Amino acid sequence: MRIGQIGEFGLIDLLKRSVPVFSDVVKGIGDDAAVLPYTKDKYLLFTTDMLIEGVHFIRKAPMPFIGHKALACNISDIAAMGGLPTYAVISIALPKQLKVSDVKGIYQGMGRLASKFGVSIVGGDTVKSDKLVINIALLGEVRKKDLALRSGAKAGDLIVVSGPLGGSLTSGRHLRFTPRLKEAQWLVKHVKPTAMMDISDGLAGDLNHILRASRVGAVLDRRAIPRHQGVSIKQALTDGEDFELLFTAPKTKEITIRKTKKFFIIGAITSNPSQLIHEQSFTHF
Ligand code: ADP
Ligand code: MG
Repeated sequence: MRIGQIGEFGLIDLLKRSVPVFSDVVKGIGDDAAVLPYTKDKYLLFTTDMLIEGVHFIRKAPMPFIGHKALACNISDIAAMGGLPTYAVISIALPKQLKVSDVKGIYQGMGRLASKFGVSIVGGDTVKSDKLVINIALLGEVRKKDLALRSGAKAGDLIVVSGPLGGSLTSGRHLRFTPRLKEAQWLVKHVKPTAMMDISDGLAGDLNHILRASRVGAVLDRRAIPRHQGVSIKQALTDGEDFELLFTAPKTKEITIRKTKKFFIIGAITSNPSQLIHEQSFTHF
């Protein structure tokens, strides 16, 4: 079988079965970041993301945005675990003809975001290649009681997103987004999401990750899904790279969530494993 047939997640499932994982690992492959032993009250978080020219950005994109995006997706994954980012290492593969000022530009964009979010850049690797590639590995930490996995959603929970979806690639928003760290921190303190992840591959697919990990189903009110201007419901469901938070929370938190006016309740969790029902008008709440 070829990679193209098995698909990204089929492949990851296959790899997952073949790698060694010792018993100290709290959560390995299968969430936004790995969860590892650390201190009495905290876990260490560890995540990595790779951006490739032609797939995640085009060479003509402003260099600072490319650096920004490379770090922002990693911060977004740490945020989605309920944690705070701490230290990053940066690996870059550079075409020979790329200008030095371009590389400086990448580091400017990355540096500005790192300063803003308290991330120290502490190392990396530099190699030559035909295409521009940036890979960042980021550490973070999370208070044990704040940890939000994909696997805790319960029947009756609300399904919530942190902002409008869709059209991220065509609008260029995928290069400029702010990781929802502040929002995630507020959520772990005041709402205690039962499950949380960031939306990188599109709402429908990513919600399925929560459903599978939590062994539950969902009913979605398609019309309640917040959308960017000019974006169809279908695009809001399937476009990737939004990097908004997707979380589930007990129904008792509904008023707290609604009061903020920052979050959008788009459905509810059901007890039918992995069943995703789309309703045009959802009247259960
Ligand atoms: P995200 O979109 O949150 O970055 P991904 O969809 O890239 O997450 O990955 C899903 C899970 O699979 C994560 O836990 C990630 O660490 C893991 N993963 C992805 N690629 C690999 C790989 N090549 N080897 C091992 N684990 C991987
Ligand atoms: Mg993620």
